Amino acid sequence: MKEILVVGGAGYIGSHMCKYLHKNGMTPVVLDNLSYGHRQAVQWGPFYEGEMADTALLKKIFSEHRIEAVMHFAAFCYVGESMQLPLKYYQNNIAATLTLLTEMVEHNILNFIFSSTCATYGEPEQLPLLEDFPQNPINPYGRSKLMMEQILGDLDHAHNLKSVCLRYFNAAGADSEGEIGEDHDPETHLIPLVLQTALGQREKLTIFGSDYPTQDGTCIRDYIHIEDLAQAHHLSLLHLLAGGASKKYNLGNGNGYSILDVIKTAEAVTKKTIPHSYAERRPGDPAALVGSAELIIRELGWKPQFNSLESILQTAWNWHSNHPDGFKDA
Ligand code: UDP
Repeated sequence: MKEILVVGGAGYIGSHMCKYLHKNGMTPVVLDNLSYGHRQAVQWGPFYEGEMADTALLKKIFSEHRIEAVMHFAAFCYVGESMQLPLKYYQNNIAATLTLLTEMVEHNILNFIFSSTCATYGEPEQLPLLEDFPQNPINPYGRSKLMMEQILGDLDHAHNLKSVCLRYFNAAGADSEGEIGEDHDPETHLIPLVLQTALGQREKLTIFGSDYPTQDGTCIRDYIHIEDLAQAHHLSLLHLLAGGASKKYNLGNGNGYSILDVIKTAEAVTKKTIPHSYAERRPGDPAALVGSAELIIRELGWKPQFNSLESILQTAWNWHSNHPDGFKDA
């Protein structure tokens, strides 16, 4: 079985990726410091607890396993926090990642799947976003990801390190078999907060901004199901393992939903009322982000299976309603 190092494999996206790799005959070797991840979410391969910037630990992992590629899910990802604590973001998302990449080059492991983001585009001039549109991020989170994309270009040139940068739109939903799901502490993402409100764990949802230049005044995002994300990573991995060139792809569904659309659809799925009120805009938020994934569909044959907002919310609701305390009762 091919061994793939999944850094951040105990987290939300990383753990769904590990399950997907295992289902497809590969062994995910997880490295995670459990700062945000959950030990209970590591179920499909060996686990190393520690830092991706720990050179000695990386050397140990690379000597104990024949790692053929590395997937990196261990970045910090909160736009709002990145505005307050930019050093935290640059330290982890860039400096620590460079240690990981240095050890990869040292050990001649030259295939890398990188979690990039639609936040690298900043405030788009035109929608849906295509891969070659200008990238002018408006928050440190997006800037840290764009810098890494640029660094990966240099590493390809200098060291033949091949990468696929996947620019996610809004990852959401949960494992369709209900084994794992989203559990952040603190939770800041829209869909889990909406569903926690439906469960009565929160009194109401606060909508950040009611005066955006969108149809209903709230921000528009393109939500993509976690298993569709995993499928795209697996196809990207196969592309690199077959000797393919470095690539950058958008991962969105091409459909934008406002926050009010999400609330309305969540009310239909959960059959609960979701009380909400409005507050100031959250600094660093673009008004609308919608991506076209035509390129990865065409080049790698990506076929999203859960591309309706209902199916995304339904799988997320199955997880949240069965595990109201997240992994504590998994
Ligand atoms: N949002 C909101 N209330 C919340 C959390 C998020 O109005 O309690 C909004 C947020 O401002 C953004 C959208 O929901 O417009 C999606 O935010 P999220 O943090 O889920 O993902 P992001 O787009 O920042 O990656």
